Amino acid sequence: MSILVGDNLDSLLQAFAWDGDRLAVADSQALDAQRRDYLSPSTAEAMQGCAARWIFEKHVRAEPDLFGPAELGTAAHSVLEHLWNLPADARTRLRAMGLLRSLADQHFDDSNDENLKTEWIAEVRAAYLGYFELENPHEVKIVATEQTVTDVEVAGVPFFGKIDRIIATDGGIGIDDTKTGKVPKNIGRYGDKHGDQLRLYSEALRVRDGVQPERAGLLYTRHAVHKNVALSKPRMRETLSDFADSWDTFATCFRDAAFETKASPLCGWCPLVNLCPAAQEAGFRQSDRAVPAIDARDHTIAHTDAPAPREQASPDAAYSEGGRHATDQTPEKDTIMETKTRFIGTKPWDEFARGQINPNSYAVAGVIGTTELAYETLASADQTINRSSVRALTQTFAKVIESGQEVLVGTLAWNDNSNTRARGALRSVLQVNPFPFGSSSDELDAWFALAVRQTRSIIQVAMELHEQTAAADDDDVEGLPEQPWAHFAASDN
Ligand code: SF4
Repeated sequence: MSILVGDNLDSLLQAFAWDGDRLAVADSQALDAQRRDYLSPSTAEAMQGCAARWIFEKHVRAEPDLFGPAELGTAAHSVLEHLWNLPADARTRLRAMGLLRSLADQHFDDSNDENLKTEWIAEVRAAYLGYFELENPHEVKIVATEQTVTDVEVAGVPFFGKIDRIIATDGGIGIDDTKTGKVPKNIGRYGDKHGDQLRLYSEALRVRDGVQPERAGLLYTRHAVHKNVALSKPRMRETLSDFADSWDTFATCFRDAAFETKASPLCGWCPLVNLCPAAQEAGFRQSDRAVPAIDARDHTIAHTDAPAPREQASPDAAYSEGGRHATDQTPEKDTIMETKTRFIGTKPWDEFARGQINPNSYAVAGVIGTTELAYETLASADQTINRSSVRALTQTFAKVIESGQEVLVGTLAWNDNSNTRARGALRSVLQVNPFPFGSSSDELDAWFALAVRQTRSIIQVAMELHEQTAAADDDDVEGLPEQPWAHFAASDN
């Protein structure tokens, strides 16, 4: 049930519930879709961090953005992979550029803005160009690229991984992984996830082929930095032990259908940060540099006092207590990197981005929310749903929202928070006064007039309340009346 955030988000959130410090998955289908009988380095890393974030992000489809860091990284990675597969003397910067141009042709057609294509090429080139400062590509002896390693147990855990490249060294083989992002700092403090990944690959090859790689390296191609990864016995022991612990965590989460939260400064980049009790309690807020998280004013995740029922988890035989045995299911590509939530790299208050409507903007949330409301209203009244009926009702609602928003800011402005408030008022009005499908024109007119009046009225009363109470120490503010409930007293007459 992977869906795009903003696109039926409430349905997605209903599949989850907060169970104390855990995020319970109430929908067994949603849980089973992510069940695996193997562990990859990236999932292991996620289990050492916040498992709740991992399972949630697995259900959020990424908005395609060719300029997003993951897409740029994938493209740079693809150029280098193709380059390494060329004969040694053909591995030049010029050939790399040719490969990049072919890739660009696949992503951009004639209808695209040529400047955009040029900009994309420059961005991808910047992500791989530092590689040519790290080694002489003519001298590298490639054994394999994109090597899948599976059907092997690492530290007793069924393993799945993909090695960027295996090369021949003087005494055996070496393995490398390409990174187009930042070079990690403070490895001692924040953990060495890139190093752990290479150590796991190294162990997987040792178990599978009986040969331990002589060396492992990380190529930070944007920044022209090469790092050797320590393969010493103590470092290997540490990594393998963490990997085994991650598998236990993974199995426990699926067995209980509930995923532990782990609050940390990384919460600032999590889509759940505004809804998550652990993050709230620890005082973490959305980072200014992060793409927007889910807005707690519009959405919520329910709480449950009891753990999610175990039968919903349908625990797979592979996850028997401490179960570290493989089954014969075919490993699928681990997709955490590809499905990481990004919500497009633009801010929601920008209605337009790169000359186009910004799908991440409040404005788009507003128009889609209004259209969804029309759709739901038609469906719940058993009305015919087609484009013209949805459009007519959406436009009707938009007129009501416009009148409500006028009270607040004087105009219809989808990108303004006041629009969310006006939509909320309309929702309340609709609950009390359902739209009279199939009525006469006069009755429909009367409904519209009533909806406008009541929507405005809700907002006006709310604004009066604010005026009465906003500045309690200001003499001009009258404050709340002594006994507002007296209004409802039975009449003496
Ligand atoms: S906000 Fe923090 S603790 Fe909560 S789910 Fe996200 S990463 Fe985990």
